[in-house]
Order: sequence, then structure tokens, then C-alpha cells
Amino acid sequence: MNLIWIQKQRSRLLYMLAAFVCVGSLLFFAGKTPKNQPIEQKAETVQSEEKANTVAQPESVPKNKIHTVKEGETLGVIAEQYNIDVDTLLGANENLGTDIHPGDQLVILPQKGILYRADMGDTLWRIASTFQVDVAAIMAANDKKDEDLAIGENLFIPGGKKIKEPERLLARAESPVSRGGVSNRFIWPTVGDVSSGFGYRWGRHHDGIDLANDIGTTVRAARSGRVTYSGWSSGYGRLVIIEHDQGYTTYYGHLNESLVENGEYVKAGQSIAYMGNTGESTGPHLHFEVRKNGTPINPYSVLP
Ligand SMILES: [Zn+2]
Repeated sequence: MNLIWIQKQRSRLLYMLAAFVCVGSLLFFAGKTPKNQPIEQKAETVQSEEKANTVAQPESVPKNKIHTVKEGETLGVIAEQYNIDVDTLLGANENLGTDIHPGDQLVILPQKGILYRADMGDTLWRIASTFQVDVAAIMAANDKKDEDLAIGENLFIPGGKKIKEPERLLARAESPVSRGGVSNRFIWPTVGDVSSGFGYRWGRHHDGIDLANDIGTTVRAARSGRVTYSGWSSGYGRLVIIEHDQGYTTYYGHLNESLVENGEYVKAGQSIAYMGNTGESTGPHLHFEVRKNGTPINPYSVLP
């Protein structure tokens, strides 16, 4: 009797499943997609529309807006205005390592989420699992037709949240120093999100990269060398400068606390300071600068 009952339940379940699938595909093919459906279904809809060669533009792919900063506005006020959070705002605007000024133009993402820069070895699947979102959601939000990724490609991760210690950066920051503790290699000075890159941003040159994380996050010497400055500097706030071989110097700005003194020798990876929000800074981050013979260069050219 039990067996028969189970079999009955099974076939019932199968019928129900079949019915669901039928209803689902009917809805799907009829294009009567219900509102508020998960974003990955929207992506499928978009793709199938395109395959069917319809000209309809995918309205479901939200677009970024540009906000021009007005007198007296703060990041919080702007974020609230667009129903996003400050993290989302910071993540989308690489220039926000420093102050905002009236007339500055900010990229406003369509929803909460973050911008992520694809790096060597990244795949959509890995990024999706890191941020615990769907691959399809990332593809839809970025209007991507395939899963190919270019190094340096900026992706909007809908619903993605800042990861406190991205494994990728952590692995780099802890990469072993060569024998004797003296190394000519650079390592990442801290763990955090790259909130601002090197180069021209909104008409100003950003001489380094900004790595955002919590106040108090350990900052390490990016390479062995000698501390040539440890103190206050306008703009940089609390600043440490280390001189290395081959004409290199590294700058660590906006620090909360310095752990080293002028003239001190440090090894690559040695803790030298704690991340802060001092000087011209809109949020806790490390401003990391690499100079070659005094001229700022893109830290990416020497970082692993
Ligand atoms: Zn900076």
C-alpha cells in the first residue's frame, strides 16, 4: 500500500512539474513576462528577442546616469537622491578618492551594486560566485552577449557588495618575499577595492591608485626600502614615503597611523601603517603612489 501511494505521489509530482514547464514556456514564448521577474530571465528574453531578429531595444537593461554635483551636496545626499548607497557611488566613480566639487560629474549606477574591474584569470563565473550573484544578472546589467572578458573591463555587479578582503588581493598582499627578506618585487600594499585608478579623471591627474577598506586595515611596504618621510602632508594627510632601489619611491597617503620613522629600513610586506581617512579624502582608503625617478607611474605596471 505504501509503495502504491509513493508511486501515485511520484506521478502526481511529475504531472505538476510538466504543467509548470508548459505554463512557463508558454509565458516565455508569448513574451508575457511578468513584472519583477528575476533579472536572469530578462536576459534570456533579451537574447531570444535578438535571435528572433526583432528591433526592439532591451528596455530591461538599465543605463547609468550622470549627476552634476551642486553646491553643498554630499555623497550621502546624492546617493539618497538616486536610491543607491554611498558604496555604490564610490564604486562607480574612480575619481572619488578625493573631494567632490560643484560641477564634478558622477556616474550614477541604476541600482545598488558595485563596479568591478576584470583582472587576469577572471571569468564571469568566478566573479559571479565571488559576489554571490548570477552570471546572467551580470551579463544583463552589462549588456553582454557572451561570457568573454577583457582584462581591465569594467563590469557592473548588480546587488554586489564590497568584499572586505578579496581573496585575489589578499593572496597578492601575502605573496612571499624572496630569501633574506630583500626583494626587488613589488607587492600589494593592502587589501581593498580599487576605488580609483591612475591617470586623468575629470580633468585632474590621479597620481596613484586608491584602495578602499576599513580604517585600521594594515598597510604594508610594497617593496623593501628606507622610509624617507613619515608625517603630515596637506592633501595626503598622514603620509609615509619609502625609497627603494632603481629610483623607485612609494607613497602611502590618508593614513590613520604610521608605524615607522624617518630613516627606518623596512622589508617588503612589513606593516608600516594603518589605513585612514586623513587629508583630502572622502572615505577610508589608501592612496598608493609609485614614482620612478620622481615621476608618478601607474602602480599596475609594477604590481604583481
Ligand atoms: Zn588617491
